[in-house]
Amino acid sequence: MKILEQIKSWNRYDFTGAAAKMTGRDVEHALSAERVDEQGLLALLSPAARDYFEPMAVKARDITLRHFGRTIQLYIPLYLANYCSNSCTYCGFSAKNKIGRSKLTMDEIEGNAAEIAKTGMKHILILTGESRAESPPEYIIDAVKILRKYFVSVSIEVYPMETDEYRMLKDAGVDGLTIYQETYDPGVYSEVHPAGKKRDYAYRLGTPARGAEAGFRWVNIGALYGLAEPAKESFMSALHAKYLQNKYIDTEISLSLPRMNEAEGGYHAKYTLDDRDYVKTMLAFRIFLPRAGITLSTRERAEFRDRLLPLGITRISAGSMTTVGGYDVQSADVPQFEVSDCRSVDEVVKAIAENGYEPVFQDWVAI
Ligand code: SF4
Repeated sequence: MKILEQIKSWNRYDFTGAAAKMTGRDVEHALSAERVDEQGLLALLSPAARDYFEPMAVKARDITLRHFGRTIQLYIPLYLANYCSNSCTYCGFSAKNKIGRSKLTMDEIEGNAAEIAKTGMKHILILTGESRAESPPEYIIDAVKILRKYFVSVSIEVYPMETDEYRMLKDAGVDGLTIYQETYDPGVYSEVHPAGKKRDYAYRLGTPARGAEAGFRWVNIGALYGLAEPAKESFMSALHAKYLQNKYIDTEISLSLPRMNEAEGGYHAKYTLDDRDYVKTMLAFRIFLPRAGITLSTRERAEFRDRLLPLGITRISAGSMTTVGGYDVQSADVPQFEVSDCRSVDEVVKAIAENGYEPVFQDWVAI
């Protein structure tokens, strides 16, 4: 079955009703299972699981140690541009917002790269906003060629592309793709994406698969928490990740759990994923998907990020700026979202080590 049909069938499922019927026994059953199935995932995300934090944390920690050891890989984002042709109601970069727009020149990209490289960072994630006209694939490819001189891993979070375009980017040196569905609820999706190419729910949903098809080493997906019912979003994200894992066995599939922050658009989150449920969701992801990476950004507060380290996180950002450039000279641009963990790379590295984990700047070498 294609992913769109699967998602449609999961969307018809009365998730909230089924989750409310889950009991402590269902959670215990999931925790004792060798492999957790969809019913087990439902139990781990259900209100009943709130009484099982301790055993869930122990199991998640053990699984993570078995599959990833005591390592946390570091990355840093670099915004190349903030032009966008979409009008997401929750984002500061929406085409409707009257903000200053800019795009880095190749010289400016090199300047930012040189400055970031001084921190020791080896993995960089580049973002452009979603304007194909302003940031065409050729622009991204030229940027990647410069960045590869400074970083062993360059990944992208840009507008969805065709498989052949992703192949071109891969040939230029891109190894990973981040693409969020934002919300798996088609009704909410239409509401919050009123204009632009992003209105096409199905096209976006098929994007991680096109990236895996093109041969990216890793593909990172997720929902933006705040738009729709959080537990259902978690259920759908995890099933989407499982589908991709089963279909693209050579690609590392990972999940992020971004929570909405203050944005220029003035959007107020309709749903809240509180800290406790955030942790529960992360534990459920780890138990359901033992091999999946879990990425944590600076959207979350420093002390909260530190507490999550032993529970399943495998990749963490540090020293992040969410304006265009800003690493070599201060940017006057509006950030896409407010960063909550403002620590430097050194401070994050120190915190990881103090928690008994090894901060990893470089986990592979391209041949
Ligand atoms: S979320 Fe992405 S696509 Fe939507 S307005 Fe912001 S930058 Fe553009």
